[in-house]
Parts: sequence; structure tokens; C-alpha cells
Amino acid sequence: MNCPHCGELIAEQAEICPKCGVRVKSIEDKPSIPVNLITFCCIPILGIIMFFVWKDDKPKAAKWALIWAIISIVFWFIISFLFGLLAAILEAAAY
Ligand SMILES: [Zn+2]
Repeated sequence: MNCPHCGELIAEQAEICPKCGVRVKSIEDKPSIPVNLITFCCIPILGIIMFFVWKDDKPKAAKWALIWAIISIVFWFIISFLFGLLAAILEAAAY
């Protein structure tokens, strides 16, 4: 197979490319459900942190952590906006 990083032909069972030192045998790279859940429900910043932690080794997991962070931020922004709007309407209705 070829190293995805430098293109060097390397042994099929190689874990690390002897030429550029990049890890070839992919460590399991799939979206992390617990991280995505926690990112979405409570800590959007976690997704952003995990994106930077994973972006070299686990690009897929990193991408999804970032996507969920963005979804979460947008979602909570809309929710707080709606509650703000609701509070304003109720306040206006009270007078
Ligand atoms: Zn390489």
C-alpha cells in the first residue's frame, strides 16, 4: 500500500510510514458518540477541543466533533434567543 501522507510504497502491515513517520494503520477513526452527545448537550467547547486533539490522527472523528460543536452552539443560541423573545413577550403582555 502507499502512505496516505507522502505516497511512499510501504509494507501492508506497517503501522508507521518509515519515510515520513506518519501513522498509517488507522487507529479506529469514527465519530465518537459519547463525545458528540456531551458536546451537544452540555459542553460545545469539548467538540472544538477534540477537533484539535483528533484532527491529525482521527480526521473523521475530529470532523464530527466539530460539526456537533457547531450544531450545539447554533441550537443553544436559537433556544436562548427564543426564550429571550418569550420573556420579552410575556413582559410586554404583563403591562
Ligand atoms: Zn509516508
